[in-house]
Amino acid sequence: MSAPIIVVVSGPGGAGKGTIVEELVQRDSALWLSRSWTTRTQRDGESSDAYVFVSRSEFEQHIASGGFLEWTEFLGNLYGSPMPNVDDGRDIVLEIELHGATQVKERHPDAILVFVQPPSREEQRRRLQGRGDSEQHVVERLKKAEDEERLGAEIADVIVVNDDLERAVAEIQGIIGAARNRSR
Ligand code: ADP
Ligand code: 5GP
Repeated sequence: MSAPIIVVVSGPGGAGKGTIVEELVQRDSALWLSRSWTTRTQRDGESSDAYVFVSRSEFEQHIASGGFLEWTEFLGNLYGSPMPNVDDGRDIVLEIELHGATQVKERHPDAILVFVQPPSREEQRRRLQGRGDSEQHVVERLKKAEDEERLGAEIADVIVVNDDLERAVAEIQGIIGAARNRSR
């Protein structure tokens, strides 16, 4: 069996990464979505399995035991991807920010980095507010987006604008399909 393809989906908060990766794994049973750990608290309306929600000390113990493929601090909270544990031929999807994406690329140079961009800052704000983020979260994420988009443009393999969800998902499905054809 060939090594799994690793698809890293990054992008500013509210771009629609979570929505896109959920669609991808629903449509493609050969994709495995990594579930991250975080020390942030669960958002109102957020599913309890969106993350493994842990305390800072639990997270730090997991770092010390080498349990993460990558991890970082983002806006005051720790986030990390546990070492993937898939050996059934499925390909791997990670939805993480760019510092983590860089760490994955260092370990796995063949990983594909997809940067999802919102169509505009205004639409990004509407999406964050619509999702129920606190005003503080909205402001932080909009401010952070400027730097993220600059870095994303430098290091991403492909930039996908999430204006129309269906089109954006189809575009990423196409990228994954092409990578599978190459690895055959
Ligand atoms: P992220 O994971 O990038 O922070 P989410 O996936 O949580 O973003 O999406 C933020 C909000 O925007 C959600 O309420 C989601 O339903 C909505 N959304 C995602 N993609 C689109 C789209 N193409 N058009 C309109 N709304 C979208
Ligand atoms: P949020 O708090 O909005 O869910 O996530 C904040 C940021 O952390 C997003 O850019 C998200 O992609 C990123 N993120 C989520 N999980 C991980 C992870 O395991 N590792 C890293 N490096 N970033 C993550």
